[in-house]
Amino acid sequence: MALTGIQIFKLLPKTNCGKCGVPTCLAFAMNLAAGKAELSSCPTVSEEAKAQLAEASAPPIRPITVGTGATAFKVGGETVMFRHEKRFENPTAIAVLVTDAMSDADVAARVDKFNKYVYERVGLKLRAQAVAIKSESGDPAKFEALVDKVAKATDGALILMSEKPDVLAAGLKKVAARKPLIYAATKATVEAVGKLAKESGCAVAVKGANLEEAASLTDALDKAGVKDIVIDSGARSVKQAFQDEIITRGSALVKKFRPLGYPTIALPCEMTKNPMKEALIASMFISKYAGIIVLSDLLGEALFPLVVERLNIFTDPQRPLATTPGIYEIGAPNESSPLLITTNFSLTYFIVSGEIESSKIPSYLLVMDTEGLSVMTAWAAGKFVADLMAAFIKKSGIESKIKHRKLVIPGYSASESGGLEEELPGWEIMVGPREGSHIPAYLKTWK
Ligand code: SF4
Repeated sequence: MALTGIQIFKLLPKTNCGKCGVPTCLAFAMNLAAGKAELSSCPTVSEEAKAQLAEASAPPIRPITVGTGATAFKVGGETVMFRHEKRFENPTAIAVLVTDAMSDADVAARVDKFNKYVYERVGLKLRAQAVAIKSESGDPAKFEALVDKVAKATDGALILMSEKPDVLAAGLKKVAARKPLIYAATKATVEAVGKLAKESGCAVAVKGANLEEAASLTDALDKAGVKDIVIDSGARSVKQAFQDEIITRGSALVKKFRPLGYPTIALPCEMTKNPMKEALIASMFISKYAGIIVLSDLLGEALFPLVVERLNIFTDPQRPLATTPGIYEIGAPNESSPLLITTNFSLTYFIVSGEIESSKIPSYLLVMDTEGLSVMTAWAAGKFVADLMAAFIKKSGIESKIKHRKLVIPGYSASESGGLEEELPGWEIMVGPREGSHIPAYLKTWK
């Protein structure tokens, strides 16, 4: 829970030495409480105070990182129940299951799909994040071989799944350096699996018989010094698992109940055998409130809608998706190629650039910073108007790339054409179509 300035002040040295850049400890405490200063600016604060302040300022749901390098993913760190209150922070990670009961060919095919199924949308690469490797046999040697095989076939993050500590230890031997998620510590194994997590520095999931037991397991791990924890309440009925997600999030955020202040893992793969139903269950857990979901397979028709749903839910509702402003070359244009301009609302950019691409007429596209607003909204807000467009065009450097001086503006900005011709002497302003889908036909007549 956040501390007030006065509560922070009580923990400071109270010498008013001024080394933190403000004259008094009280002023520094007020700045800290307001998030305008960092504790490290005070060189004389005690270790005890540091620990207390760090604890107090910790997010109510601990952020956990699984994996290393570019393929690592972060879950948890959430601060609100509902997206419109602020935003959701770390997108639900999607994992695909492989087991030691599967044939080598099936494992290879599933990992191959994991590597290949990458979708590009609004400039982002959307994909699953992890391979969950499960021991069905309980045989450590078999599990170790499977983990080794999967680790060599993908650089994605890994989840090691077994309820037997010796099996998990065998898998960890091969991939501890890649910081997999260890799944799972149960009531019977919490000590041994907690030890594995501590020694390897990997995050660990707890699996309870119910949510209450899961909370007691996180508490036990926390007391043993294991901090990076993921919760599985153990529920496998959709209704109970959904309720557990809501209770977990609410307990952590509203009641500040630390034992449930961790991200969760949900297993749609264990809730149904129907692939379409599994996708529906997964979509529910992306909305509320799983940190990780494990799917039994990656089917394009299920994965694509899930990653798009996730993209929509985990974007900031107060800030439109924006593309970087600048000159975009589409299809190797030359100095005689058409020049178009649009705004940097990502969806606008991708529709317009996609239509230009499909026209097969190489073109330059100027993308202007309108704070992520679409053409009509930006125009109405005075952010996509003649004087600003002219200033952007002059600064953009496009004049050195083309020998003509013709600019195609969106049809919805037609009223700016006169102003633009005044602002850009010598330029011909051409009014393009209102709809992106009409751009290919328009460009074929462009001269
Ligand atoms: Fe107080 Fe620390 Fe700032 Fe000195 S540096 S005034 S002790 S808060």
